[in-house]
Amino acid sequence: MTEASPRAEDYDVVVAGGGPAGSTVAALVAQQGYRVLLVERSKEFGFKVGESLVPATYWTFERLGVLDAMKASRFVNKQSVQFFSGAGKGTMPFYFTEFDGHESSHTWQVVRSEFDQMLLTNAARLGAEVCRGVNMAEVLFDGDGREDGPARGVVIVDGQGVRREIGCRVLVDATGQKTTLANRFGLKREEPNLRNASIYTHYRGAHREPGIDEGATVILHTRGERSWFWYIPLPDDTVSVGVVGPIDYLIRNRTGGAEATFHAEMALCPVVAERVAKAKQAMPIRVARDFSYRATRMAGAGWSMVGDAFGFLDPIYSTGVFFALKSGEMAADSICAGLAEGDLSGASLGRHGERFIAGMEAMRRLIYAYYDRDFSFGRFLKASPHLRKDLIHMLVGNIYREPVGEFLEALSREVEVPEALGEELVGEWG
Ligand SMILES: Cc1cc2nc3c(=O)[nH]c(=O)nc-3n(C[C@H](O)[C@H](O)[C@H](O)COP(=O)(O)OP(=O)(O)OC[C@H]3O[C@@H](n4cnc5c(N)ncnc54)[C@H](O)[C@@H]3O)c2cc1C
Repeated sequence: MTEASPRAEDYDVVVAGGGPAGSTVAALVAQQGYRVLLVERSKEFGFKVGESLVPATYWTFERLGVLDAMKASRFVNKQSVQFFSGAGKGTMPFYFTEFDGHESSHTWQVVRSEFDQMLLTNAARLGAEVCRGVNMAEVLFDGDGREDGPARGVVIVDGQGVRREIGCRVLVDATGQKTTLANRFGLKREEPNLRNASIYTHYRGAHREPGIDEGATVILHTRGERSWFWYIPLPDDTVSVGVVGPIDYLIRNRTGGAEATFHAEMALCPVVAERVAKAKQAMPIRVARDFSYRATRMAGAGWSMVGDAFGFLDPIYSTGVFFALKSGEMAADSICAGLAEGDLSGASLGRHGERFIAGMEAMRRLIYAYYDRDFSFGRFLKASPHLRKDLIHMLVGNIYREPVGEFLEALSREVEVPEALGEELVGEWG
């Protein structure tokens, strides 16, 4: 199943990166009978942040055929999200089942190494050739190597350090925050007002709510509301705890390093501090930053970007893996259509761009609402209680399934959102 080096010299599609986005696109294209190679540079998955899913991932899991594996897993059942103000006042949990009792309104808090492995194994099951410990070192283009290409293959380096050229008709960049193609072509744009960083770790033996709330994600503002914490219950009596705030506030002008900052912020968040007071820190502190960006286009001649390689919004609503899966799914459909039609132009491979971006933009508006200190969801829902259903649809991730236009319009009357990024999207170059 997993090879150390590719068996052939040529494929229809090469996918670089075996995270959720890469595994999804590889699985769904291979399922249609195309020859797909996926190269993943790690030999095995280690810790990865991004442990909380939204329920709408259910539909991609169903399409991938992994629902039973998810249900049989030891991942924690997540049924709601709850928010705390900086004054320590909690909302009622937003239960995802409030307006829809179907099992798709439940989701999971996952251990990413196990989750990513499950999706990668599934890509191989559906016919993709998966090579571990293999790095995509270079993308090869016809002509003078500009992004109007077309892409014709990759140079890979295997675990023994052997370099090989592999040909393909379509190259999918699924390299996550490495953003290989966006960097190469200078397509990356930072989200203007979300220059955030995060400091996080795991605790063992921290407080867990009983019953239906055991797996709830809890989002808590710190006193003064300059930063917020996530609290995500995981298997093995482990809880993921992280703080997010502006880079300027959380990283620059702080003394004592990330560990000291993390604990200083926790002191401003007594609800979290109490919950972990008797727990043991189970992982060194980690830091992430500069994670909110988007590429100005999603596809070109012979290439496509999926997941974080294209863009990532913000961790607040746990939508990163959802968008990675969804973009993998949509890109797979565009690639299969393009291969069948013999049209591998940027416009053809990026035909899903507009729809995908519309969903990202919807979520982006909700994100800016959370960070807008003049805006209050409580006040908003008090004035328009009928919009609660739409808010829950958004928290579920139902942005491609349910009409939430009225909610978004009402929100945009109160929350200012910077201009959309990435207008070029699919571009004319293909
Ligand atoms: C602080 C923070 C908190 C987050 N919390 C959440 C959350 O709670 N819920 C959520 O859904 N999302 C969360 N996310 C986002 C989530 O982690 C990502 O959106 C998600 O992992 C994206 O999946 P992906 O497949 O695009 O990329 P990745 O999961 O990053 O996978 C990319 C893969 O490509 C491989 N790779 C890279 N370069 C190469 C190369 N040259 N050759 C071969 N392989 C390569 C890497 O080894 C990796 O396995 C969070 C992000 C941050 C920064």
